[in-house]
Amino acid sequence: MQKGNRIFSGKSSFVDSFRVKYSLTIITLKTNYIVRKQCHTFIKKEIKYDYLVILINNHGSGLIQVELISYTPESEMIAKIAGLICYSAENDLGEIKNKAKIKPDEYLGNIIKNGHLSIIEHNMYVFYVTGISRTTSHQLVRKRIASFSQQSQRYVNADNFVYIVPDEIKKSKFGEEYEDLIKQSHLLYQKMIQEGIEKEDARYILPNATSTQLIVSMNAHALIDFFAVRICERSQWEIREIAERMLEEVRKVSPTIFRKAGAFCEFYGYCPENDHSCGKVETIEELKGN
Ligand SMILES: Cc1cc2nc3c(=O)[nH]c(=O)nc-3n(C[C@H](O)[C@H](O)[C@H](O)COP(=O)(O)OP(=O)(O)OC[C@H]3O[C@@H](n4cnc5c(N)ncnc54)[C@H](O)[C@@H]3O)c2cc1C
Repeated sequence: MQKGNRIFSGKSSFVDSFRVKYSLTIITLKTNYIVRKQCHTFIKKEIKYDYLVILINNHGSGLIQVELISYTPESEMIAKIAGLICYSAENDLGEIKNKAKIKPDEYLGNIIKNGHLSIIEHNMYVFYVTGISRTTSHQLVRKRIASFSQQSQRYVNADNFVYIVPDEIKKSKFGEEYEDLIKQSHLLYQKMIQEGIEKEDARYILPNATSTQLIVSMNAHALIDFFAVRICERSQWEIREIAERMLEEVRKVSPTIFRKAGAFCEFYGYCPENDHSCGKVETIEELKGN
């Protein structure tokens, strides 16, 4: 069992034996949706709501999963072709493709460095993200140049959802109270569902800590912008972890495009945060001499 995971359960021996099965499943398959759904059926059949099982995912316990499930093939070749289309008089696509094949990666790196990012907008990256809180998914979906498909709380019963506990709270004197309240809200949720309240209404009692899963798609330019603000130290730990994992994934398939990607200061060399800057590099105001 991974460090930091914890399960609240009822007192019966049945729940105790289930506890082992459930935690092993979670750890082996990292919150795989189908497997969790099977667990859910199991709970519904055998346990009344007063024998509630909730998995608490403590911050840093590794349940966040970010997987690059699809991407535009030959992404860097397409970007080179787009660059050549912009900068050459050539209008024979075959010739342009041939030229692109022999263009060094440095050619692409330089165009990106110069900020001509439209040439990488033809490349899409599709991620599966799970084990994150609704708090963070709300931050994620604020990105408008992106597409999202998120697990519905109207249609999916929240019985087997994971709840996130930030380390900060876990270590504080509020840890226990926090987990108790989550437990209570989950109990009330179950009670309402069992008494016929629709999921779409019962879900109002679920906390921001409730876990969710999404498919997220962005083009390479949108990703670079996303990394700039979300890998920045000013960003919150959960979305920063997602952004860092995404960057790790896309670097494997498009190394030149994402070579310099990262926090704003890493990509642009200065900090736009001014008073909130972490001090790693000069702020825009400092550069202006203000
Ligand atoms: C540290 C941090 C704190 C934040 N705090 C808050 C907060 O307290 N409250 C809050 O509401 N949001 C907050 N946000 C969200 C933020 O305001 C953006 O909505 C979000 O980060 C999406 O970034 P974006 O607009 O650059 O990207 P996208 O939404 O992908 O947009 C990309 C670009 O398209 C252009 N664009 C998109 N839509 C429009 C439009 N309607 N009009 C003109 N240009 C447009 C802009 O140039 C924009 O940069 C925060 C973000 C960060 C990183």
